[in-house]
Amino acid sequence: MSARAAHRLVWLVALLPSLIFLAHLDAAAVNSASGALNAAGRLTGVAGLSMLLLAAILSARVPGFDRPFGGLTRLWRTHHLLGAWSLILLLLHPVLLALAAAEVSISAAAATLLPPPSDLAGWSGWAALILMMIFLAPSFSFFGPPRYERWKKVHRLAGPAVALALVHDFWLSRGLPQWLDLALWSTLALLALAAVGWRFVFSRRIGRLAYTVSDVTAIANNVVELSLEPGGRKLRHEAGNFVYLTLEDDALEAGRGEEHPYTLSSSPDEKRLRVAIKSLGDASRAAQTVRPGTKARVEGPYGRFFLSPDRVGEPELWVAGGIGVTPFIARMRHLSRRGEAADVCMIFCVQDPAREIFTTELHELAARLEGFSLHIHYFYREGPLSGGYLDNVCPDLGRRSIYICGPQPLNALVQQQAAAAGVPASRIHTEEFELL
Ligand SMILES: Cc1cc2nc3c(=O)[nH]c(=O)nc-3n(C[C@H](O)[C@H](O)[C@H](O)COP(=O)(O)OP(=O)(O)OC[C@H]3O[C@@H](n4cnc5c(N)ncnc54)[C@H](O)[C@@H]3O)c2cc1C
Repeated sequence: MSARAAHRLVWLVALLPSLIFLAHLDAAAVNSASGALNAAGRLTGVAGLSMLLLAAILSARVPGFDRPFGGLTRLWRTHHLLGAWSLILLLLHPVLLALAAAEVSISAAAATLLPPPSDLAGWSGWAALILMMIFLAPSFSFFGPPRYERWKKVHRLAGPAVALALVHDFWLSRGLPQWLDLALWSTLALLALAAVGWRFVFSRRIGRLAYTVSDVTAIANNVVELSLEPGGRKLRHEAGNFVYLTLEDDALEAGRGEEHPYTLSSSPDEKRLRVAIKSLGDASRAAQTVRPGTKARVEGPYGRFFLSPDRVGEPELWVAGGIGVTPFIARMRHLSRRGEAADVCMIFCVQDPAREIFTTELHELAARLEGFSLHIHYFYREGPLSGGYLDNVCPDLGRRSIYICGPQPLNALVQQQAAAAGVPASRIHTEEFELL
């Protein structure tokens, strides 16, 4: 199944309760304006809750679960969309019900919006909605870009919000035959509980592997590459995968015990793992000073950047920007260790020679790989990557699969130019170092 089909399936499951609701709707009940508003109010409740539960299910972060969806970053885009839609629908839910009640009387409408204190079912719904507004507000960037660690803490309110929404639903739900109602919501609720249980309890105990930092190499003044030796079971991964890395060094100035996603820069057949970390904020800046001997936890692998990293010989164009070179260096190291040829044209975009990273090793690897051509593009000297530049270094762009990993504007630019050169979207693959 393609990633697109897998995402469509998620939306279909999210919409299934609404479709069942519509199939059981009594046509006579929607003949009047208040009947139609009431049905619309209940429908938004059903759709909003099912999307909220699906969003919770998708947050599981089980290694491998993200592969059919084209990787965790894509899966979480769908998770975010489901969350956003569920908030919009659940905000509409009481408004539509109150409008329907207004046909009867204003006091009935007011009682829908402000239930009496004894109406625990009504208040559990409101409590769920208020918690949703609090934990989703940072995702909508209402108050500017959120700080990741704070965003993560606030996001934990999702658990109580889902629980309260379920209480509200089990108490008040009307519209489906009772057995179907129970079966549907219980199944979705159990899956959501299993997902959250894995994420916050079991993955911490059994999903994180023990490693020790064995070597720290300064790649540039703001990039280090850490080598990690396994303390027990070794992580199995493919080139292009990323992991959540937790550094447990008490001397670190920031980010102690925090998990951060980093792409593995090592070849999958090396015993140790390697990650190259660029100083981009508090934790990654502190990671520049990490010492050998530091204990680390590694969770993963996640992501599916290269569709089939072991298949060689297919014509490919790789475009890396800055620290976005990490998945490519992992694959080059892998190809080189296996002594394989590769029909790859690689463009590495850096701002100027002073900010080059890994270029000496990239040149060495490229020279060893038959069929591989490497081009370094300097932004300050040559300006943004242009169609002319691409044509020049990669004249057969149209027949290649394209892999892009870099800052968002670079990703967008290359996608545009590849599309203009006739490369179908199915052959353009991107990775972004951004999860929010
Ligand atoms: C799939 C993926 C692969 C990545 N691979 C690499 C890599 O190979 N090398 C590299 O240097 N960087 C990589 N990054 C980026 C790296 O995760 C962030 O630079 C780092 O987490 C920033 O943390 P900070 O506290 O230093 O910065 P902050 O200033 O706190 O954060 C800067 C931004 O980084 C993101 N971020 C921060 N903390 C986290 C977190 N715990 N989880 C997810 N995102 C977070 C947020 O979008 C935030 O806005 C990758 C990111 C992703 C999503």
